[in-house]
Amino acid sequence: MSQQGYVAAPPYSQAQPGMGSYQGGFGAAPAQPLYGHYGGPPQAFSSPPAGVMKSPASSPGGMPPPPVSSQYNPNVQQNGAHPQRLASPSAAPPTYGQPSHSVYNSMASPAQPPAQQLTNQMSAMNLGGYAPGAMQSPPPPATTSIAQQRFQTPPAATGHPQMHSAPLSSHMAPPISPPQSPITNMQGSGPPMGGQSMAGPPMGGHSMTGPLMGGHSMTGPPMGGQSMGGPPMGGPPMGGQSMAGPPMGGPGSFQQPGSGPAGLQGYPQQAGQFGGLMSGPQPGMQGGFPGAPGGLSGPPQKKLDPDSIPSITQVIEDDKARLGGQVYSTNIRGQVPPLVTTDFTVQDQGNASPRFMRCTTYTLPCTAELAKQCQVPLASIIKPFAKLPKNEAPLYVANHGETGPIRCNRCKAYMCPYMQFIDGGRRYQCTFCNCVNEVPAFYFQHLDHIGRRVDFYERPELSLGSYEFVATLDYCKNNKPPNPPAYIFMIDVSYTNIKSGLVKLICDELKTLLEKLPREDGAETSAIKVGFVTYNKVLHFYNVKSALAQPQMMVVSDTAEMFVPLLDGFLVNYQDSRAVIYNLLDQIPDMFADTNESETVFAPVIQAGVEAFKAAECSGKLFIFHSSMPTAEAPGKLKNRDDKKLVNTDKEKTLFQPQKGVYEQLSKDCVAQGCCVDLFLFPSQYLDLATMGDVPSHTGGSIYKYNNFQVETDGEHFLRDLRKDVQKSLGFDAVMRVRTSTGFRATDFFGGVYMNNTTDVEMAAVDCDKAVTVEFKHDDTLSEETGALIQCALLYTTISGQRRLRIHNLSLNCTSQLSELYKSCETDSLINFFAKSAYRAILNQPVKNVRDILVNQTAHMLACYRKNCASPSAASQLILPDSMKVFPVYMNSLMKTAPLVGSTELSTDDRAHQRLSVMAMGVEDTQLQLYPRLIPLHNIDVSSEAVPAPVRCSAERLTDAGMFLLENGHSIFLWLGQACPPDVIQNLFNAPSLAHLQQGHMFSLPELDNPLSKKVRSIISELLDKRPNSMKLLIVRQKDKPEMLFRQFLVEDKGLHGGASYMDFLCYVHREIRQLLT
Ligand SMILES: [Zn+2]
Repeated sequence: MSQQGYVAAPPYSQAQPGMGSYQGGFGAAPAQPLYGHYGGPPQAFSSPPAGVMKSPASSPGGMPPPPVSSQYNPNVQQNGAHPQRLASPSAAPPTYGQPSHSVYNSMASPAQPPAQQLTNQMSAMNLGGYAPGAMQSPPPPATTSIAQQRFQTPPAATGHPQMHSAPLSSHMAPPISPPQSPITNMQGSGPPMGGQSMAGPPMGGHSMTGPLMGGHSMTGPPMGGQSMGGPPMGGPPMGGQSMAGPPMGGPGSFQQPGSGPAGLQGYPQQAGQFGGLMSGPQPGMQGGFPGAPGGLSGPPQKKLDPDSIPSITQVIEDDKARLGGQVYSTNIRGQVPPLVTTDFTVQDQGNASPRFMRCTTYTLPCTAELAKQCQVPLASIIKPFAKLPKNEAPLYVANHGETGPIRCNRCKAYMCPYMQFIDGGRRYQCTFCNCVNEVPAFYFQHLDHIGRRVDFYERPELSLGSYEFVATLDYCKNNKPPNPPAYIFMIDVSYTNIKSGLVKLICDELKTLLEKLPREDGAETSAIKVGFVTYNKVLHFYNVKSALAQPQMMVVSDTAEMFVPLLDGFLVNYQDSRAVIYNLLDQIPDMFADTNESETVFAPVIQAGVEAFKAAECSGKLFIFHSSMPTAEAPGKLKNRDDKKLVNTDKEKTLFQPQKGVYEQLSKDCVAQGCCVDLFLFPSQYLDLATMGDVPSHTGGSIYKYNNFQVETDGEHFLRDLRKDVQKSLGFDAVMRVRTSTGFRATDFFGGVYMNNTTDVEMAAVDCDKAVTVEFKHDDTLSEETGALIQCALLYTTISGQRRLRIHNLSLNCTSQLSELYKSCETDSLINFFAKSAYRAILNQPVKNVRDILVNQTAHMLACYRKNCASPSAASQLILPDSMKVFPVYMNSLMKTAPLVGSTELSTDDRAHQRLSVMAMGVEDTQLQLYPRLIPLHNIDVSSEAVPAPVRCSAERLTDAGMFLLENGHSIFLWLGQACPPDVIQNLFNAPSLAHLQQGHMFSLPELDNPLSKKVRSIISELLDKRPNSMKLLIVRQKDKPEMLFRQFLVEDKGLHGGASYMDFLCYVHREIRQLLT
């Protein structure tokens, strides 16, 4: 890639003097804790090559249309929310961060005892049986005493603000029974905590304890002070239902848009800021764990009320009730946006819409020490091409003429609302690096009485969070404007695909689909060119030049040296060549109707696409429709290496690793050419998806998989995916760069991206559903006053071949108070980060370790909150930050996903597929995947437009006479209870009873002319429309075998393939937290 103008920035190496010891560049990254990582290689940061600095010229720039808002004022960006000093930093024993840090590092290496112990402990408690049979001894008391040494002072002494721990509602019975005294518990003083020491410190990986542990042989299952269900509890043990109170439970961290700038300032400090009180393990109690070995089949001693633990559906409904339908203005620094599940309208007033950028927290800790202490990952999830609803304006395009976009001379940040104009408007200070720059003459403008340029509202780059610049030739390959992109459809015509009818299905669909290629707003036709290839062991290229009466085929059988046998006539304008293309699409199924060829090649197919784009000097996308493992003699030939015996061993990671060599190089070639690969797979058996998906997952592509494809049952599902995919809006040949103000920087990137160096995120293409998760680390201290800025700049080629820069800016708060940080956390974003980092981590270490780290970090984050931010209360109460009260349920769900669960019952390809899909997901998609929506349909009001509110994702919510819809972004289930009323069945299926439903009819609903049928089908199609993937519909009857498929998505329940129920997990985490606090 040679976008010199773009990659030229050497920002960090030229830090301001104020940046302290990092001035010389960060070649050797500061000794960062690896707390956000799983032992992956630390990102050594080296400054990118120096390049061309843009010099200002004096040609006038185009004036964009005036932006919508009139309220944004950078001077009002301050969120003056730090009036109340909470616990002074010194009150928190600094030792807390330290041990946990080293623990974390040691956790990161596979064979460390600590991780082992945690797992042992978990399995001993049968917390889901992640590691079957690994019943082992608890760790030695020695660790506990170390743990006890950590806190000499009970947190009660720190004078916290009034964040009450008292019961908030009447139905919340006092969870605590007499023996407990908060002080005693907090001090972790010996005997009363007996159960605790049994439980063992999962964080025991403290290096000091290392040697001790090795020699200890423990016997007997730990009976940890687990109280759940134990008779001595008295009273509803989980009574802490404080979080359920809908309207008032709100943390108040969201400012109502429209309440005026004054009202927007600052976060009111609120009591009730943490969500849950939960009674926890009782000192010295030998309570049984609900999911204890053998306990699963037996009923728990005491039925717990599942309503008493924090509920995702409640949190979602509360947020909808509070913010749904409102206008969210982005004029406040560090403002926490509505949840992804809430419908709202965004008004860009200086910060990027949350549709483009979301953060794990909107208030960064000022120092690396604080970050280390709380272990809350600092990350932003960026979806640069996010779809905007119709009532939100598309991005304005600024044109600065031949000069190109105005940029800071030093750090290369683009002109944005944060730049401070000084000296009467003749110069501006870059807010990212503090460099003072001259304003080019053509760009000069006077300032008004508050120091703002008078053209403030006329230039999107001065007043908006997101906008685009027209890029100049400096930003183009070889200083030449790019050609419009091309799409090549590459169809595997081997025996299986012909026999199944797939080839015909594709060819028929393309005839109509090609009319709908993406085009610029207002353009009559698409500029995208199209080409066609079919293949089995050899490749067939087609000449579809408009002048031809018949398409011509050219065969390339030398797959080792792939080349494109024709230039002219291969990539054509669809409109011009429609007749020839129709002819070709009609002929293809017949041409291969009698084929016996069952072997295929794969890498040469991608290579052919790259070569075609090279020859045509364009970027584009390959749509490959492929059915089997490529076993024909050719580069990239694969062999079956599936081995279930590796599951739950140290070598399990190899199942996820792609085979090296050919595909690695191919990814590189693709990205260099801007060749994105979308892969549609139709396997009937293992095909090494980890390797075949390698190129798509590095080029911003998508992977679709249809197991045992049959046209009748899967055809519509596949076509819906194909239509969505072909029509997606996207950018090609993209490079993304994330700049930050001084004090922190982007250190890691997760997504369908390719990294040639540590800063430039390359994507052959990026579509509206793809997101990159960016992790940040501190370089230095951040200032509460100035806050922190992030600028994401994406250089790309539009669908019509224009080179553009898309800029997203976001300003965050900074704090030295952890309570402020926790208050601004966004659980949905946190879980996106954890999902991606865990899914990457399993490439390098056993999934068991990764799960341990996830549990560990969950407990740590929550313990730190408890210790530093919550008011003193009994240790047996689980106190969660309001912003994170449902974090445990997501985390538990994540650990039960196919990639992380470690079950031999799951297909290796399915696990690899899910891993790769999640890596490119945005926050909405990970949210839905980890907490599917379970929608009750039996009481539906057929006359209402509304979709019924989802219920908690648990079998407890199902009723025999009920009917439910479950969607998770990948599948959609219609579940029918055994006692589903006959009239419902009649209305939906035109059958007298459930028993009459035919197996073959279980994939679609007949179109019947009655209100119920119409309503249910309209809900389903609404859901299908909304999601990036089409989701296969499965109709399951209660107690039928396929019901298992459905049940595995009831994520609050114990996992079918292993993994704890939400309740058990929460209890476990609670115990871990107590452990950390003692
Ligand atoms: Zn700068």
